[in-house]
Amino acid sequence: MAYEAVIGLECHIQLKTRTKMFCGCEVEFGRPANWNTCPVCLGLPGALPRTNITAIAYALRLGLALGCDIRHESVFARKNYFYPDMPKNYQVTQYDLPLCEHGTLPVVVEGESRTFELMRIHCEEDAGKSFHPERVGDRRISRLEFNRAGTPLLELVTEPVLRTPAECAAFLTQLRKLVRALGISDGDMEKGQLRCDANVSLRPVGQSALGVKTEIKNLNSIKGVEKGVTAEIDRQRRELESGARIVQATLLYDADHDKLAIMRTKESAHDYRYFPEPDLPVLRVTDADLDAARAALPELPWVREARFVSQYGLPPYDAAVLGDSRELADYYEACARGGDAKLASNWIMTEVLRVRNDRGWPLEKWAEQVPAPRMRAFLDKVAAKELPGPVAKQVFAWMADEAGSVDELLALHGIQVQGSAEDLRPLVLQVLDENPGPVAQYLAGKTITIGYLTGAVMKKSGGQAVPQVVQQLLAEELARRG
Ligand code: ADP
Ligand code: MG
Ligand code: ZN
Repeated sequence: MAYEAVIGLECHIQLKTRTKMFCGCEVEFGRPANWNTCPVCLGLPGALPRTNITAIAYALRLGLALGCDIRHESVFARKNYFYPDMPKNYQVTQYDLPLCEHGTLPVVVEGESRTFELMRIHCEEDAGKSFHPERVGDRRISRLEFNRAGTPLLELVTEPVLRTPAECAAFLTQLRKLVRALGISDGDMEKGQLRCDANVSLRPVGQSALGVKTEIKNLNSIKGVEKGVTAEIDRQRRELESGARIVQATLLYDADHDKLAIMRTKESAHDYRYFPEPDLPVLRVTDADLDAARAALPELPWVREARFVSQYGLPPYDAAVLGDSRELADYYEACARGGDAKLASNWIMTEVLRVRNDRGWPLEKWAEQVPAPRMRAFLDKVAAKELPGPVAKQVFAWMADEAGSVDELLALHGIQVQGSAEDLRPLVLQVLDENPGPVAQYLAGKTITIGYLTGAVMKKSGGQAVPQVVQQLLAEELARRG
């Protein structure tokens, strides 16, 4: 029998507010253990929570961006369960009356536009962290640390509308892009700023009723989600094909070993004894709050990417790469507007992003060293064919470390751009004919002699040639002779 997978995602988004969800402690990482704590986030008796309005403003931004219905009066609830990293023994979250419902996320999956329906987005607080077991002498101990306890989270839950692991990956990539563009979260899965649980079931193709689902917890990378969901679909298919039934359960996925383990058979909502949080008032959202959130919305990433395609004639692939972050898209536009937009895209997508990755520079660092007008002046010279390819690459490399205009850099490094490949080829041929020894050495595998040959050509050109061009021509000619 042919089966189809049905997947629903529950995503937790850590908001980058200055303070926690219900107290004034700073949300700040790398502090000593339990530094950022107070009676509220430590759950001490008698401490009273207060809602962080910035977190609510961020939630509204996300809800509006996704076209959700926003509830004017939503309610916080206590979700009761015991775990040592949660000192109150309940988590403050929202239950039957969440802040946002419905809405959709538009996603491009393998070149095709899709729209995925959402169930809800609600506000809640994060738990602390436990580290265990650790060894101290001959004792085994667990450590608890509450710096993260009470950090604002949004939980976004999709309808069971995803069908493949690739769709899950595309969904999360798009969600990450969105929260970054909205400025509400850094969305880094490796750092736990975006976390995802995946609910998976199978059903015979053509059947509309949903099958029994399992839930894979705490997937912490997009690749991990793809692999974990793939593994669980395979496992369920094998079970069903062998005639077994799927048992509803919560699973853990070990991405390093591609292994699924059953954590517990699934609890249901009544196990949590949800009830309205008595210490917090109803969360009221006014029209003015909504207007303010709407005014804070940037151009949404998918709208901007579509505009990159229509306005600058970029391929959708380029638009998606450049639209990856607001900073990158802004930088691109500042370089492209009124110039050769595709050339700007090529240089930024390949060279700028390569420097950023090689050096581990955030884009801001690059943009500080090479602000858009400087990059633009460089691109204009490339577009005007004033810089041969290898020289352009060389100038680009200098720009990353040195100050000055393109002309100043060329002068500083004693390069006068005259020698086009056509001018230099006769000199190259001459040098090769005059140096049979080094040529033979090169062809025998001692490729370092190309330095000597380059020097000889440079000398013949009176120092006017561009070494990179010379070296490339030499390599071409030598390859021809080899
Ligand atoms: P629960 O009460 O078990 O947490 P919810 O109805 O809250 O279930 O849904 C949680 C997530 O599981 C949602 O993303 C939803 O789309 C998804 N989901 C629900 N039923 C199924 C199913 N049969 N197969 C796959 N995903 C499902
Ligand atoms: Mg759930
Ligand atoms: Zn606190």
